[in-house]
Amino acid sequence: MGIHNVSKSFGTLKVLDNISIAFPSGSVTVILGQSGSGKSTLLRSINHLERVDDGFIDIDGDLIGYRRDGRTLYELKEKDILQRRRADVGMVFQSFNLFPHLSVLDNLVEAPLASGVPREQAQAEARELLARVGLADKADAWPRQLSGGQQQRVAIARALALKPKVLLFDEPTSALDPELVNEVLDVIRQLARSGTTLIIVTHEIGFAREVADTIVFMEGGRIVESGPPASVLGDPAQARTREFLSKVL
Ligand code: ADP
Ligand code: MG
Repeated sequence: MGIHNVSKSFGTLKVLDNISIAFPSGSVTVILGQSGSGKSTLLRSINHLERVDDGFIDIDGDLIGYRRDGRTLYELKEKDILQRRRADVGMVFQSFNLFPHLSVLDNLVEAPLASGVPREQAQAEARELLARVGLADKADAWPRQLSGGQQQRVAIARALALKPKVLLFDEPTSALDPELVNEVLDVIRQLARSGTTLIIVTHEIGFAREVADTIVFMEGGRIVESGPPASVLGDPAQARTREFLSKVL
């Protein structure tokens, strides 16, 4: 997957400024940066929740939100975009966003059913996913009966139910009580070895050092520095990166 020369403004504020990043298949990328640096906008652009003004994003050569015909790009219809996005890119948010009126199991099967998977198969796969995130016994619970950490693990299982090629995490542990952070990070650690391409915005630097193949440090809508954790975290080249790390470490 790759982001190619992507720019995006809100009014006169340039939030993404000519961003290019390659995300090799199966790799784990952690994006760091202060609040307001454009991290969420970048994830939302990958998921096509935001339109970019310039540049493009591809998954295995398929352009997100666009169809190429020769040298011309055509914007896909909303329905086609949704379909493509659902199939290829999953997203887990800070606020777990489960459907409160659906049981845990139904939260997981809703999207697969909508995309045509037979109910029995969707339910069997959902139960497997719940087991993977350590919640096999919660299939019939309601979201409100679960802790924040459990809800977030359900949200991760729900994202996986569509078998995405790329899974985006936007501060997945920021809304959790400290004692619940690790159970969610543990699930992401497992995923990091599963072949799904992961892009994670987090402030958990120790976790980033451990799981990331690449760390990207953003500021003001630009990439200040990127590379393996040993260099970006261990021996940053840029003063801005050092300054940021001295605040968060
Ligand atoms: P981060 O996730 O790194 O905190 P964001 O991508 O959320 O940063 O925001 C980057 C900048 O864009 C911020 O200045 C934010 O206020 C602004 N911004 C984000 N979304 C919108 C929007 N829908 N309309 C206007 N400004 C926005
Ligand atoms: Mg954000």
